[in-house]
Amino acid sequence: MLHAKRIEDRVEPLEACPALVLNADYTPLSYYPLSLWNWQTAIKSVFLDRVAVVAEYDRAVSSPSFHMRLPSVIALRDYVKPATHPAFTRFNLFLRDRFMCQYCGSREDLTFDHVVPRRYGGRTTWENVCAACAPCNLAKGGRTPAEAHMALANEPRRPTTHELQANGRAFPHRHCHETWRDFLYWDVTLER
Ligand SMILES: [Zn+2]
Repeated sequence: MLHAKRIEDRVEPLEACPALVLNADYTPLSYYPLSLWNWQTAIKSVFLDRVAVVAEYDRAVSSPSFHMRLPSVIALRDYVKPATHPAFTRFNLFLRDRFMCQYCGSREDLTFDHVVPRRYGGRTTWENVCAACAPCNLAKGGRTPAEAHMALANEPRRPTTHELQANGRAFPHRHCHETWRDFLYWDVTLER
């Protein structure tokens, strides 16, 4: 078991040093949630030769026989084929709709709307649920968009993992180590 020296107060706690995990093609294993491993898992994988170290923190861990800088970016040796379709979760649904009300475009007070209301047999599926702000949800009530004279920005449908990841890139992660940026936002940076 590894133990870190905690002599310097100014250094970041180890818990604040997760490794960004890339697939073997150097794209993040996942954007949402961002694929991060804690330092213990990251180091164990390095020793098992399951990952290659791509970048490191300044922070190191030591034991009497061992000294190692913590990996900040690692890449799997074996490619993991991503799921074609993401899980149907509240977060993924918001991400599909880019955190925007599908009726008015607001980003405030987001809720979920059953496009075909449940009382008409509308189901809770990718194809029948969309992000809607609370005021639009209230205004629509238990009616269809046609009945309520409210137009949808996009017809709800099941997104691919690729589409969700593309949407995810538009929402920068709050905690992002400088060594991660090349792997997360290169396309965004180039556009600026
Ligand atoms: Zn709205």
